Amino acid sequence: MTAAFRIKGTTADVTACDCCNRRGLRKTVALVPLDRDGMEDGEVTYYGTGCAAKALRTSSHSVRKIARAADLQAVIEQRAQLRDRAAFALPLLERSRALLVTRMEAGEDPATVATGHVNRLGVVMGRYTPARRQEAEAQAREAFATGGLRALLAVYDRYGKEITRVSRMDPEVFTY
Ligand SMILES: [Zn+2]
Repeated sequence: MTAAFRIKGTTADVTACDCCNRRGLRKTVALVPLDRDGMEDGEVTYYGTGCAAKALRTSSHSVRKIARAADLQAVIEQRAQLRDRAAFALPLLERSRALLVTRMEAGEDPATVATGHVNRLGVVMGRYTPARRQEAEAQAREAFATGGLRALLAVYDRYGKEITRVSRMDPEVFTY
């Protein structure tokens, strides 16, 4: 018979063991039940390492090792998703930046252009990371208030540099 659970990783958000109800654990192991064919089937449960080892009929050491590998895999998957969103957002950002340059060269009313581009930059950054939309709009607004459209263009370049870097990263290579 195959193991009846799969280790999904660890979490510090749940600190009580669903198996023995012990509380105050530093973290728990997320386990998902498997059906007879080894497919994930049912809700995730959170066990302390000891109880997880018993449920899986293995050692605590082995549980910790598998959980660590699963945690790393989850981080890599998150990074891959971020990279893909960056690759998607980059051409949008470049197009929007080019449009700003066109408007600047045409000598359009700076305040009107700025209003439109605060919004545009927010939309583009929202496609990259939804949580950063407001930050991008605030940066763009502040840049225009202090340095006009040139400063707003510099905000585009700053985000462009970041998104370019992220779009090219290897999710499995960590650099610090
Ligand atoms: Zn327990």
